[in-house]
Amino acid sequence: MFNYSIRSISIIVILAFTSSALTAQKVKEPKTTEEWAAPYEPFRIAGNLYYVGTYDLACYLITTRQGNILINTGLAASDVQIKKNIETLGFKLADTRILLTTQAHYDHMGAMAAIKKSTRALLMVNEKDADVLATGGSSDYELGKYGTSFKPVKPDRLLKDGDTIRLGDMQLVMLHHPGHTKGSCSFLFTVKDELKSYRVLIANLPTIVTEMPFNSIHSYPGIAADYAYTLKAMKNISFDIWLASHASQFKLHDKHKPGDAYNPSAFKDQAGYDTAISDLQKEFEKKVEGDRKNR
Ligand SMILES: [Zn+2]
Repeated sequence: MFNYSIRSISIIVILAFTSSALTAQKVKEPKTTEEWAAPYEPFRIAGNLYYVGTYDLACYLITTRQGNILINTGLAASDVQIKKNIETLGFKLADTRILLTTQAHYDHMGAMAAIKKSTRALLMVNEKDADVLATGGSSDYELGKYGTSFKPVKPDRLLKDGDTIRLGDMQLVMLHHPGHTKGSCSFLFTVKDELKSYRVLIANLPTIVTEMPFNSIHSYPGIAADYAYTLKAMKNISFDIWLASHASQFKLHDKHKPGDAYNPSAFKDQAGYDTAISDLQKEFEKKVEGDRKNR
């Protein structure tokens, strides 16, 4: 009897140890091109909206009198650069009150846990991405194959489609745009400068991540329907300026060069947006057709 209980206690201890070892799994970021994370000069996009990301990993700062909102955080090592970019513009990372992400992938979530810890800002995410945030990407239907690819982080508020995020005089609406991840999302809001106000869309474009047939992805049933929904929803958004999760997606480097004067009009480009969405629509249809043929 005595022996038996000692044994069951040690089994419990071993189990507890194993599960904590699992959750403390080491973060291993997939390799990316050097260009993605290269330093990039921050600049004012429109009104109180600024670009503070790397060469390709777009991060956005929205300033208010009640503190700032930071959208996306690049790779794990991007925290130093984001902080520097914010300071170059005359602001402080420590004034960040709200953290947002357009999708739960390592190239936008990399420095999130570290920045959340240092700023104590509130992290608000689409509820559908909360699980992947908690596992540091290892429960993602596709990138889960890389294991834990960013530091797990717990959100303070879960958002649903159409929810509003408020800080100071800013109001951002979260638009649920699933497919790329289960909780990919875009943000729609208005910023003002001395002359005008601009309706801004930060679009998370529904690019296809997986090579698996959609109907064989058991951890994401309904993925094809989600892509179809997102493509349709994205055609019906009106805005003055559009941006995206990656600089290359909205052709930042064609529209703006380091040192250029303030020029919000450079990001108007309705035609570029329409082309991007129609290209993605074709890519999606090709994928669905390919899945059908290979069945
Ligand atoms: Zn992604």
